[in-house]
Amino acid sequence: MAVLEIRDLHVTVETDEGTTPILNGVDLTVRTGETHAIMGPNGSGKSTLAYTIAGHPKYTVTQGTITLDGEDVLAMSVDERARAGLFLAMQYPVEIPGVTVTNFLRTAKTAIDGEAPAIRSWTKDVKAAMKNLRMDPKFAARNVNEGFSGGEKKRHEILQLELLKPAIAVLDETDSGLDVDALKIVSEGVNRAKEATDLGVLLITHYTRILRYITPDFVHVLVNGRVAEEGGPELAERLENEGYDRYTESVPAGP
Ligand code: ADP
Ligand code: MG
Ligand code: MG
Repeated sequence: MAVLEIRDLHVTVETDEGTTPILNGVDLTVRTGETHAIMGPNGSGKSTLAYTIAGHPKYTVTQGTITLDGEDVLAMSVDERARAGLFLAMQYPVEIPGVTVTNFLRTAKTAIDGEAPAIRSWTKDVKAAMKNLRMDPKFAARNVNEGFSGGEKKRHEILQLELLKPAIAVLDETDSGLDVDALKIVSEGVNRAKEATDLGVLLITHYTRILRYITPDFVHVLVNGRVAEEGGPELAERLENEGYDRYTESVPAGP
């Protein structure tokens, strides 16, 4: 049982205009086995939250804490976060020239587990996971994210998720740019990971579409860097019908 706790999180980013506050006091608790949807209008700070949990150097935490089972996540390097059980799938995954999918997965697995996986069972696991995600076996020999289509990038993220078996996964707009068939395949992958390892999921999305396939236990609406409303799956349904206008019209901007 793992718990990711975010308390009173304030985050700024450096821009040409100076230091800009983006997150203005976010509180959130994600436990293994729970699925939390973070929803909100564009620019509300959803990706900033994901990047901050991931440890991206562009984002500065000015106040508040992030802990995993009581350990200070903000004091950990990016690698240490992964070893501690955090998995981050970014909205815009980066290319890794010269590193194949196969080698990347094996290196990541070795780094996280502290030992290389046994070749036979690992090869079998990779093949099975790729097949589940309807990925062409040839894909394994390609360089990570180089020339990948939007859908291939997302499948590769879920392939990592299924093989690396983290405790808590942060998925930033894993649904963006996917057609319905790909969305179903990717969602099934997340649901398999939830079943297999009791994964906790922080599912960041602008649209309610993916929530038809991955049912959230909790929905949090992020507006202007703050959680403006929280509820169960019914809140996502309401957002599907009403959109975000009611929040953007009533919530003042700024810290
Ligand atoms: P969302 O993912 O909800 O669309 P983001 O977290 O990407 O929102 O962005 C929130 C706000 O912070 C936006 O106004 C965006 O322009 C700004 N922002 C985020 N990251 C950066 C950055 N690296 N440099 C400058 N501005 C940024
Ligand atoms: Mg956005
Ligand atoms: Mg975003």
